[in-house]
Amino acid sequence: MLNVIIFGAPGSGKGTQSAFIVEKYGLEHLSTGDLLRAEQKTQSDLGKLIESYTSQGNLVPDELIISMLAKVLDTKMNKKGYIFDGFPRTTAQAEALKVMLAERDMKVSVMLDLNVTEEELIARLLNRGKTSGRSDDHFETIQKRIQVYHSQTAPVKDFYKKEGLAIDIEGLGTMDEIFARITKAIDAL
Ligand code: ADP
Repeated sequence: MLNVIIFGAPGSGKGTQSAFIVEKYGLEHLSTGDLLRAEQKTQSDLGKLIESYTSQGNLVPDELIISMLAKVLDTKMNKKGYIFDGFPRTTAQAEALKVMLAERDMKVSVMLDLNVTEEELIARLLNRGKTSGRSDDHFETIQKRIQVYHSQTAPVKDFYKKEGLAIDIEGLGTMDEIFARITKAIDAL
C-alpha cells in the first residue's frame, strides 16, 4: 500500500500533481479543500460555517476536518492507498492522521513537499483566481493563506522529518518535469 501526503504552500501544485499521481499509481485522492468546497456548495449550516473560515484564508478547526476525513477514509476504501492533499495542515492533524491510519492498519509511506518560491505562488494563485471562481483566490486572501501556511502548516514538515518520511520536491518547472521528480521519489521508496 502506498499512502502519500502531498504537501506545500497554497498554489504549490498539490492538486495538479495529485491528479497525475492518482492516474499512475491508482491511489484514492483525498483533498480536504475539495471536501470543504463540496460542503460549502450545499449551503448547509455546516457549509456556511466552513465558508466563514475559508473565505477569510483561515483554516477550519482541527476537530471538524479530522472527523470529516475519518468518515471519508471509511467510505472510500482503496487497497492501493491514498493521496492526502491539503491534509494534514497542522501538527495536531498530523498526529490525528497517524492514529487514524494505525487504527486501520495503515501508515504514511512518504510526505512530498513541493518547494515553490513565494513570488511564483502568488502569481499562480492570482492567475487561477481569474477562472476558479474560488472566493479565496484574490490578493488579500492569498496573502493571508500564505501567512497561515508559514505559521500553522510549515511546522508539519518537522513532524514528518522526525519520522524520516519528508522528501523535498523542486516545484518549479513544467508539470511534467515536476511529476518526473515525484515518480522518481516514489519509485525509490
Ligand atoms: P490551497 O492549498 O490552494 O489553499 P485547498 O483547496 O487545499 O487550497 O484549501 C482551501 C482552504 O480550505 C484552505 O485555505 C483552508 O481554509 C481550508 N482547508 C483545506 N484543508 C484544510 C485542513 N486540512 N485544515 C483546515 N483547513 C483546511
